[in-house]
Amino acid sequence: MSAPASASRRLSAHGIFIDALTEAAAGLIGRSSMIDKTRFLAFLRARSLMQGRWPAPLSALRRVSLWLLLGWVSSGQQVVIGADSVVLITLDGLRWQELFRGLDSRLASDDSYSAQQSELMRQFWDDDPAERARLLFPFLHDTVFEQGSVIGNRDRGSCARVANPWYFSYPGYSEILTGVVNETINSNSKIPNPERTVHELLEGIDGFVGRTAAFASWDVFPFIFNVERSGVYVNAFEPLNAPEGMEEITLNRLHSDIPPPWPTVRNDAFTHRYALSYLRREQPRLLFISYGETDDFAHDGKYDEYLFAANRTDRFIEEVWHTLQSIPGYRDNTALVITVDHGRGEEPIETWLHHASKRSLDGYMSSLSHFTEGIIGSEGTWIAAIGSGVAGKGLIVTEEQCAFSSQVASTLVELLGLDPQALNPEMAPPLSELLD
Ligand SMILES: [Zn+2]
Repeated sequence: MSAPASASRRLSAHGIFIDALTEAAAGLIGRSSMIDKTRFLAFLRARSLMQGRWPAPLSALRRVSLWLLLGWVSSGQQVVIGADSVVLITLDGLRWQELFRGLDSRLASDDSYSAQQSELMRQFWDDDPAERARLLFPFLHDTVFEQGSVIGNRDRGSCARVANPWYFSYPGYSEILTGVVNETINSNSKIPNPERTVHELLEGIDGFVGRTAAFASWDVFPFIFNVERSGVYVNAFEPLNAPEGMEEITLNRLHSDIPPPWPTVRNDAFTHRYALSYLRREQPRLLFISYGETDDFAHDGKYDEYLFAANRTDRFIEEVWHTLQSIPGYRDNTALVITVDHGRGEEPIETWLHHASKRSLDGYMSSLSHFTEGIIGSEGTWIAAIGSGVAGKGLIVTEEQCAFSSQVASTLVELLGLDPQALNPEMAPPLSELLD
């Protein structure tokens, strides 16, 4: 990332104002990104608000302008400022164990968990755990972890976990998307989220109005985003309301013709194709794509299908990334963050099916109360990122201090060059080690 980009982030205490300024200034000097008149007007408004009020930001303003000018003069090309857009992807309940160790031979060779053992071994087996992991997630290992950064390989001193006390999906996604742990979010019930997602917060800012969206396989997401209150565009589980073009019309027909494999979760292929179509047409600045098959196949006890779904999702993520790099405005100007909502058990072996904290056994997860300590290890997650504004550190060792899922929200905001504290002072701090 260029100097002006990190400078912009350091100055982000003045967040929205500085962002508006830098965006507008970059537009003035010919940056070929998604600058529009709205944001330039935001800059003018911010400038008039500033006059005579904040002396410190004024000097910051001059510094930003100088950096922009220097970047322009010295490089003779466009100036990139942080990430202009961010895409967040989640894989529901995909264990860090498979991500970093690959196929678990105990589960793959167990007749009760894997019907397609020879095919699993043919595709994903290698004696070396690192190579096994690469066979399962070739894009994540060869590209994201090589060019970007990742946290969560506990075998190598890198730890990520949820901050919420429950270890299941709604609390996990709420934490990721809002940056806030609200312990009253203690079920997966379809209750409108009292907290505000990054989408909802950004929709209140010039330059982001109508520029956020979410696509998900699970039907609870309209409640996690509280669409009634937020008005955020969310497509989850259902076909598109207003399909445009042959691809979306065909997808909608297939959506009706192919029954979903679960009552509340559709095939990820629909989520993926709808999201890609929307990305190309609407060019959102914050896009969330939530794949769900991994968790449901795991709950079904189908380890083979869990791994095939994981491998498909790796391919989906690769396609999202290549699509972003094929579109001017997104190319070299977008950050991609990938994470999970919770982990799963490891010992005893059958706990790979589940996830729940000990505390949740008294409430929503009472059906698992025979596991008297809860599902041990199911708080474990992983967080990866690549692209503009992301450090190229590979695996980040955290030692005892785990990274929290609640830090993802403010990390997205920081990547966009805005100040998370200005959006919501309750947000957990960003994952500074992931940032360039
Ligand atoms: Zn689950």
